[in-house]
Amino acid sequence: MSFAELGDALQQRKADALYRVRRTLETAQSPEVRVDGKDYLAFCSNDYLGLANHPDLVNALKTAADTYGVGGGASHLVNGHSRPHHQLEEALADFTGRQRVLLFSTGYMANIGAVNALLDKQDAIFQDRLNHASLLDAGLLSGARFQRYLHNDPDSLAKRLAKTQARRKLVVTDGVFSMDGDVADLPAICDTARAADAWVMVDDAHGFGCLGQTGGGCVEQFGLGVEDVQVLVGTLGKGFGTAGAFVAGSETLIETLIQYARTYIYTTSMPPAVAAATLASLKLLQRENWRRDKLNSLIAQFRAGCEQLGLELMDSPTPIQPIMVGEADKAMAISAALEQQGIFIGAIRPPTVAAGSARLRVTLSARHTEQQVDRLLTALDSATSSLGI
Ligand SMILES: *Cc1c(COP(=O)(O)O)cnc(C)c1O
Repeated sequence: MSFAELGDALQQRKADALYRVRRTLETAQSPEVRVDGKDYLAFCSNDYLGLANHPDLVNALKTAADTYGVGGGASHLVNGHSRPHHQLEEALADFTGRQRVLLFSTGYMANIGAVNALLDKQDAIFQDRLNHASLLDAGLLSGARFQRYLHNDPDSLAKRLAKTQARRKLVVTDGVFSMDGDVADLPAICDTARAADAWVMVDDAHGFGCLGQTGGGCVEQFGLGVEDVQVLVGTLGKGFGTAGAFVAGSETLIETLIQYARTYIYTTSMPPAVAAATLASLKLLQRENWRRDKLNSLIAQFRAGCEQLGLELMDSPTPIQPIMVGEADKAMAISAALEQQGIFIGAIRPPTVAAGSARLRVTLSARHTEQQVDRLLTALDSATSSLGI
């Protein structure tokens, strides 16, 4: 069998303006980056608090490497569970106000592992239409009856819950929606789930660090405890600025995951030094409120500027501020025009988002300056007017 048909599919993807290419970053993550030999002002990383290259994190990583080396060496259940991993789990349990926390090597694996440890063919899973790919994949893999409800719509969820006879029912939602930036209506979703005797799982990859008084994300903002959100997922590669993920919940939940979550059991632990760096990051994330304040003022500045320019924004109070474009080729053209002006923002296209809803996913960081946001607005004005948006 030849690969010719794969080649044809790749050609078609190019013709549809959906082809993906990697760009090579030659600096640390920062508002100012060097990509493929050229300097840019970037508005597309998920390093919302600007911690990915913070000296405290870098030093914690170096110091821990001196003691613990580089590799985790084994899975957590063999001999890869080290002191920094354990300390980080305890600190995150404190931070989230949950009994216990379990670390995973990535958010993708946390979601696959948690859902599959909890559900099988006798069960049902209810997902927001705009949930992250890892949650959708987790549900499909579990064999549970899979249903999607209308975006952020508790009534649509209630109708589906009312019809199920399943053994266990799990409602799953992003806390902050990754491609739109809006926040799930968690109080209403939790009420709806409780009325139907369903559990709630929230993946707050983009909320931790950005929302809540101490960066505790959506559940802190809404004051929701473990009786409301039984399964709470956070990722460490975004606001925390490091790598990995965690699940927070009751003693029983975490013991269940240790016994049954295959993506926990059958994989090498994250490097211990990364856990040590994350401990340093957690301190800054909780204490340095100025980072959230700064983000909020940049968000307000950006939204006011876009309104003046007549650009269509989404209903987002978070650092994710997408500009809706529509067709994929147009989003690519604007992204290229911005690059000409030294601004780096990736175009987000199907299948990551629905057909006809390609967008520029602008993200802001606490390390951006007001002047840099002004530069972005000026560049957006010229790129969008010259291309007729
Ligand atoms: C990024 C993301 C993930 C995946 O996390 P990784 O640690 O990058 O694998 C999961 N869920 C959501 C909502 C995300 O945005």
